[in-house]
Amino acid sequence: MTGLIEPLPAGPLPPGVGAVLVVDTGAIIANWNLLRARHPGGAVAGVVKANAYGLGAAIVAPALHGAGCRHFFTAHLAEALAIRALVPGAMLAVLNGLPPDAASVFAAHDITPVLGSLSEIAAWSAAARRLGRKLPALLHIDTGMARLGLDAAELARLAGAPELLAGIDLRFVMTHLVASERPEDPLNALQRARFAAACAMLPAAPRSLANSSGIFLGAEFTSDLARAGAALYGINPMPGEKNPMRPVARLRARVIQVREIAAHAPVGYDATWRAARPSRIATVALGYADGWPFRLSGQGMAIFDGAPVPLVGRVSMDLTTYDVTDHPAIQAESWLEVIGPDLPPERIAAQAGTTPYEILTSLGARIVRLARAA
Ligand SMILES: *Cc1c(COP(=O)(O)O)cnc(C)c1O
Repeated sequence: MTGLIEPLPAGPLPPGVGAVLVVDTGAIIANWNLLRARHPGGAVAGVVKANAYGLGAAIVAPALHGAGCRHFFTAHLAEALAIRALVPGAMLAVLNGLPPDAASVFAAHDITPVLGSLSEIAAWSAAARRLGRKLPALLHIDTGMARLGLDAAELARLAGAPELLAGIDLRFVMTHLVASERPEDPLNALQRARFAAACAMLPAAPRSLANSSGIFLGAEFTSDLARAGAALYGINPMPGEKNPMRPVARLRARVIQVREIAAHAPVGYDATWRAARPSRIATVALGYADGWPFRLSGQGMAIFDGAPVPLVGRVSMDLTTYDVTDHPAIQAESWLEVIGPDLPPERIAAQAGTTPYEILTSLGARIVRLARAA
């Protein structure tokens, strides 16, 4: 009896595993369906960059594909190659663009670059000529982010010389919103207007506009393809309002030891915490090397049997300590839940001074990821 709120999925865990991330694929699919209902008239792609925001692209991509998702985005070519076979027939696009000398790899594996400059367009067009067939691409227009995509000058040059796109099958023209989490920000409408003007200068093609939060900005932000990441994984696309998404991730860490310490005894590096009373301290196998934020030192918590358990002392590289004096059921081999419905990534991010995106994408390679189907 480990005191889990619900049991871990069946199947043997590697011996000595420190932490388990249980990924609810049924909740991911429910979230995808909710986003589709909020994005009428256009498809919703699954953004699975950064190992599907830390949850495991090998779990997430086939689950979405099985539900009917036919558009996927990664950031890197290597991420796309790793999941190409898991999403047969689907568009698999690379947001970071076409690196020099990579065109033949993209073409050979049916991976679609998001072209973000005139030189990338030239390289992809040349590859199409070399291969003697049309090659698919998305075209990224910068409407305010100033990271990737054609700027106004490049757009004007392309509009004046559409033959630069020879051999390119323009699957979508896309842009990326700067402030979609803040509906009141006038940048949203400005970007939408700039995007419409850019598309009017280019050959007719389907459009891709909203990310997760953009889907909730209203009907004007609907396009042929939304690109959703965070909301699929349960992160609230409307910060400050009730989260319409289902929670997806539960992170549980294993208690290695429970020890009794005397009143006034310190715990952990630099003795930042001292017991006020004779105490029981549980040491779990999760630390900042696993992406567990150091900033939670002395202020985080875990959940056991529905009750909060305070984190005490410093988060160290491989270990974190909790005061379990009031939880006699917690013993060695118990599991403490450190992310879950009662401890959403937003809550942890607020304590750690970061975004929920960073909390999930930081979760490290030592954590075992398990799928839990609905
Ligand atoms: C990461 C990313 C997305 C997904 O954004 P979410 O806020 O996670 O939905 C969409 N488009 C681009 C260009 C991105 O880089």
